[in-house]
Order: sequence, then structure tokens, then C-alpha cells
Amino acid sequence: MEICILGAGSIGSLFGALLAKAGNEVTLIGREEHVKAINEKGLRIVGVEEFTVYPKAVTYAPENEPDLIILATKSYSTAHALSCAKHCIGKKTWILSIQNGLGNEDLALKYTKNVLGGITTNGAMLEEWGVVRWTGKGITKIGVYPKGKNEMAEKVARVFNNAGIETQVSENIISWKWVKALVNSAINPVGALLEVKNGFLLENEYLQAILMEIVKEGCRVAMQWGIEFEEHPLEVLIDTLERTKDNYNSMLQDLKRGKKTEVDYINGKIVEYAENIGLSAPMNNLLWSLIKAKEHLTQSK
Ligand code: NAP
Repeated sequence: MEICILGAGSIGSLFGALLAKAGNEVTLIGREEHVKAINEKGLRIVGVEEFTVYPKAVTYAPENEPDLIILATKSYSTAHALSCAKHCIGKKTWILSIQNGLGNEDLALKYTKNVLGGITTNGAMLEEWGVVRWTGKGITKIGVYPKGKNEMAEKVARVFNNAGIETQVSENIISWKWVKALVNSAINPVGALLEVKNGFLLENEYLQAILMEIVKEGCRVAMQWGIEFEEHPLEVLIDTLERTKDNYNSMLQDLKRGKKTEVDYINGKIVEYAENIGLSAPMNNLLWSLIKAKEHLTQSK
């Protein structure tokens, strides 16, 4: 399959490397330093598996129309990345988001009706230009966005599974996007504000109770939007905290690096969805404001 990774940073480079190793024709679209390093000495994966591949790497989307574009930028870069790549979104091209947050697939739908949604619990970290650490093996779920089934979702899942990216197809991917956003809406800002590992949020009874209330607030919004959960977000919350107890969440890591966070596409989107139907989401609104303030603090240092 001919695949473009739009936003080849941590997770995009990992997927790109595994897909290239399995013989797919992969083009990575990323930032200059990363692209230069890959072109000079290949893309090295370390951690769960260790190997080097030599995919094509560029800073701008090429002219040809791939079968699949995997969107892997941070959510705040999606709109711009898609507009830069619009010339290569052809009739046969499908766009798959493996990003966290809500709204990325809706942006892709402005360019084509061929959109797949996705979530992944794989973990990746750009260790240095050209080198990505696969920090944890996980599961990927993909499906026609917002709902439904078709041959392309099945085909992409087969290609992913053949590449060692364990993937399941869901006919209700929008509900999984919401579940991941709801879980992140609690873990990420609270962990980032307190600067603690996920395990502390689970062990501390006050914090666990707060996290559950935040998830429940988001669930009420989701249910008003007709989202039907296949697995209860509270169960996924506890499972995620247990599985990632030794990790600092990505929002905290972004703040520590003085980077922007994805809070607008997690808590911010939940507030927006609530307000659009005359509800409020005060806990999400408070967390959103606190993280925006913390972003301001860390970026002005
Ligand atoms: P990341 O390491 O920051 O990678 C994104 C890359 O895309 C960055 O190098 C970014 O460069 C680049 N980029 C942005 N716009 C671009 C454009 N127009 N053209 C070319 N490159 C562009 O982020 P990540 O950790 O991989 O996360 C990506 C998404 O996946 C997020 O939504 C995240 O929540 C989700 N996710 C990540 C993981 C993980 O383990 N990393 C796991 C599951 C889900 P700049 O930084 O210069 O903008």
C-alpha cells in the first residue's frame, strides 16, 4: 500500500517505520531536521523492537496521490497540515487519524468523504532526530468515521497487522475517539497540574474520585450527542491508569518542554460540544482554563 505519514514525529514515525519494514511504500512528511537525519542514516527504532528502515522522507507533501494518509500531527497542527497536503488527496485516497482529541477527522472530512478514525495505545517518543523510541506496545482501533464499515478499513487493518501494529476494526470508531478523549480529559490536566505520574492519580483516593467525576461530566455530554459506548469510559479510565502507572502524561511532558498542549482538543472540545446543545461542563472548563494559564506560564519562561 502507498502510505504518507503527515506529521512524522513520534507516533507517526513509529507507524511509518513498521509499515516500511513490512514492504509498504511509505513517505514520511516531517520537519527538516528529522527528514535530514532519516535521509542521511535512515529511521532508527529503539525500545520494544530495534531496527532501521530507509523510507522516503520529505518536508512537503509530494505530488502523487497515496492510498492512505496517516494524520499524526498534534491536533493543533491538523488544519494547517491538511491544507498543505490537499493537492495529494486524490479520489482513491483515504485519510486516517491516529491522533488524540476530538475534531481531527471532522477537519479531514472537509477534503474528502474517505475518512477513517483511529486511536492507538502504542507509545512513542522522538529520542533524537532520526531516532524514535517505541516505549510501549499497544492496540490500535480504526474504523470508518464517524461510524460504519467498508473494505478500506478492513484492508488498512490487514496491512497494519501484517506490519506488527496490532489493529482491530470498529464500526463505531467515534465512540472510541470519545472514550479516549474522556479518559485523557481527566488524566492529562490533573496529572499535568500536580506534576505526578499516572499511578499517583489511581492510588490517591481524592484524585481518583475527582478523575471519575470529570469523566462522568464528559460522558453526559457525549450521551447527549448520541455516542453509544462499547466499553464504559470509567472502566477504561481505571485500566489506563493501571497500565500507565509509571508514566508522566503527554500534557505534562509538553508543558515541561515549554510546548503547546492538546487541551483545546480534549477538555476544550468537550466544553464546546456541551455548549452547542445548551449544557455546561464546568469541570472541563476549569481544567481547560488552568492548563491554558499553565501553558502561558511555561511558554513565557
Ligand atoms: P509529535 O512527536 O509532536 O509529532 C508530530 C510531528 O508533526 C512534529 O514533529 C511536528 O513538528 C510535525 N508537524 C506538524 N505539522 C506538520 C506539517 N504541516 N508538516 C510536517 N510535519 C508537521 O507528536 P506525537 O507525540 O507523535 O503525537 C501526534 C498525535 O498522536 C497527537 O494527537 C498525540 O496525542 C497522538 N498520540 C501520540 C502517542 C505517542 O505515544 N506519542 C500515542 C497515541 C496518540 P512541530 O513539532 O515542529 O510542529
